[in-house]
This record gives sequence, C-alpha cells and structure tokens, in this order.
Amino acid sequence: MALTLSLVLIAASAVVIGAVAGADPTGDAAGPGAASDAPKTPTSRPAPAEPPPAASVDTFDRAAHSLDDPMSIWVVVNKLRPLNPPDFEPPDLVDVPVEHTWDPLLRQEAADAIVTMFQAAADEAGLELASNSAYRSYSAQEEIYDGDDLLTARPGYSEHQTGLTMDIGAVSGECSLAACFADTPEGIWLRDNAWRFGFILRYAADKTDVTGYSFEPWHFRYVGVPLATEMHETGVVTLEEFFGLPAAPDYG
Ligand SMILES: [Zn+2]
Repeated sequence: MALTLSLVLIAASAVVIGAVAGADPTGDAAGPGAASDAPKTPTSRPAPAEPPPAASVDTFDRAAHSLDDPMSIWVVVNKLRPLNPPDFEPPDLVDVPVEHTWDPLLRQEAADAIVTMFQAAADEAGLELASNSAYRSYSAQEEIYDGDDLLTARPGYSEHQTGLTMDIGAVSGECSLAACFADTPEGIWLRDNAWRFGFILRYAADKTDVTGYSFEPWHFRYVGVPLATEMHETGVVTLEEFFGLPAAPDYG
C-alpha cells in the first residue's frame, strides 16, 4: 500500500516537473536540442489527467501513540473504554499555575500546554481563562458521579482521570460549566484556537451519539499538537471517529 502510494506520488511529481519544464519560456530546463522538436504552444502539451494528489494524501501516522495505554497522550477513554487499571493515577501530575476554582493538577506536558494557551488567550485576545476542574482521581470521581450518565462519568471512565483534561472557564465565572459558555468570548476563542496548543473540544454539540456526553464547550482534552492539528484540518471532531473506534453512547 505504502509502496503503491509512493509510486503514484513519484509519477505525479514527474508529471508536474515535466509540465513546468515544458512551460519554461527559456527552454533551458528541457536541455539542448529539445527545443527544436518540442511543441511550442501550451495547448499542444498533454494536459495532466488529474491534479497532483500530494496535498490530499493522508500521511498522518495514526499508530504513533497507543490508544489503550493510560500514559499515552492519545489514550481514548469513553463509556466502552475505561482506564486500565480503573484506579490509574498518572505519576507526573503537577500543579498548573493558572487561575482556578479547584486546585488544578495535570500531567506535566498538558500543564505546560495549558499555561501557554492561557497566556496566548490573554496576549492575543485579552481574555482571562480559569480552570474549573482538571485531574480527578478515581475516588474524587466517585464523589462527583451523580447518576446522570450524560453529564458525569462513572469512576474509572472519566477523561479527567488521565491528567490530560481540563474544564476551562472565564475568570469572570460567566456560564461556567454551562452550554452558554460556547457563546462567550472565552468559549469562542477556545473553540477556534485550542488545537494550536494540542487540545480538542472533546464533547461536541452534535456528537452525543458518538461520545456519550452532552455538549461540553468547556471540556478540553490534551492530545498534542500533531493530532489536534490533524483533526482540525480534516474536520473530524471526535477521537472515536478519527481512530475508527466504536461509538460509545452508553456503558456496555
Ligand atoms: Zn470535563
């Protein structure tokens, strides 16, 4: 498969190079002698049958990180994919030095990305972001779980337990943890810019059937810049769809 793609790309490149050389008005690119026999008018050259496919070929490596290992930045946690082990606790949790309601902990890499993103929101748009919730342990999730499976995760099934997820709000508290956060300047900025810092809006408005959760415009999951960028560019908004995993509307 990879070999075939490479051959196609090489062939396409040759077509493009040939076309460019033929169009060169100086004739230098075609070499000595070539000009005398070469057709002079663009219309006499054979037109490329297809546009070059290079731009549309997906070279993103979807196997670069594990989807199962709880220490992987790509781990997919949903109602069919609990953390393994269920009481997993990341070993590299650090305090996240940002405005907050609850003291936020995240894994180092995600914490660094949050700090950078919050600073960018301030510098680029004058917005003050705050953490409402970040890492939550199995036992913390036991206390939070309220029996409503559309709104809260059962212990061992929460993305917050990965140490890669933060519920983000405005320092003002406007629309904290509410759907109307989507319409605040902070919510709009995060929706449009989080990917640049490696975060995805994990529970999109129209994806409850896939993710199992209602729209949560405040819940951002760190997956790293390469994956967040790829999802942004391809328009695939859920990890389940991007990786071809089963939809997880309910617990199995
Ligand atoms: Zn959340």
